[in-house]
Amino acid sequence: MALPTDPHHDARETLRLIGPDPQNWVPDREGVEHNVFIVGGGQTGSTFAFALRRAGIGKVTVIDAAPDESKAGIWLTHARMNRLRTPKGLPGPELGLPGLSFQSWYEASHGAEAYAGFDRIARTDWANYLKWYRAFLGIGIRYGTRLLRIEPAEGHFRLHLEATASHRSKRRARSFWPMDLAAAAVR
Ligand SMILES: Cc1cc2nc3c(=O)[nH]c(=O)nc-3n(C[C@H](O)[C@H](O)[C@H](O)COP(=O)(O)OP(=O)(O)OC[C@H]3O[C@@H](n4cnc5c(N)ncnc54)[C@H](O)[C@@H]3O)c2cc1C
Repeated sequence: MALPTDPHHDARETLRLIGPDPQNWVPDREGVEHNVFIVGGGQTGSTFAFALRRAGIGKVTVIDAAPDESKAGIWLTHARMNRLRTPKGLPGPELGLPGLSFQSWYEASHGAEAYAGFDRIARTDWANYLKWYRAFLGIGIRYGTRLLRIEPAEGHFRLHLEATASHRSKRRARSFWPMDLAAAAVR
């Protein structure tokens, strides 16, 4: 079967059919810069950023301590196995939209037969898919920024960040993710 001339056709069509991103409906609160602060731009943080955008939640920021995309997450850094343990058909970052799925992305470059020919996704293919997902959806990640500490403040959270060893700053956010970072809030 011939490969599509535009490898992003299905993904573009998906975005066309779901329509423009909703406007940010969250009212501003004086002195609070972020509605949601996502710590970690790996697959979960990137997916969450897209989900919030589609829910009309603006002023979302994603940071990652890694210096750049190639050093973020585990797939090109710590993981050594050739293939994922997860079966290829499980739902992923596409949020139920088939045109944004790993399968759609893979078949656009390699064809449906190639996809049918393996059970487990190659680790580097998964990493490339996540890279494409971030780029295609325009998920901006502020690399080289580490969350050091979270403090509860009046009606918001104060996040202590370190951009480089010599540059520390504080940001105010209504909420943050992952929520298990809540443990850090009391430190
Ligand atoms: C060898 C191995 C094999 C695995 N195989 C599978 C598998 O087959 N299927 C599966 O579903 N899962 C597997 N996992 C689990 C895998 O880690 C997760 O599924 C996946 O990476 C989770 O993505 P994530 O975005 O939540 O976290 P990660 O990919 O770990 O990304 C977290 C990001 O947060 C950043 N970060 C951390 N702390 C801070 C901070 N304080 N400030 C700023 N940024 C920060 C990190 O730099 C990182 O980029 C495997 C894990 C390993 C180690």
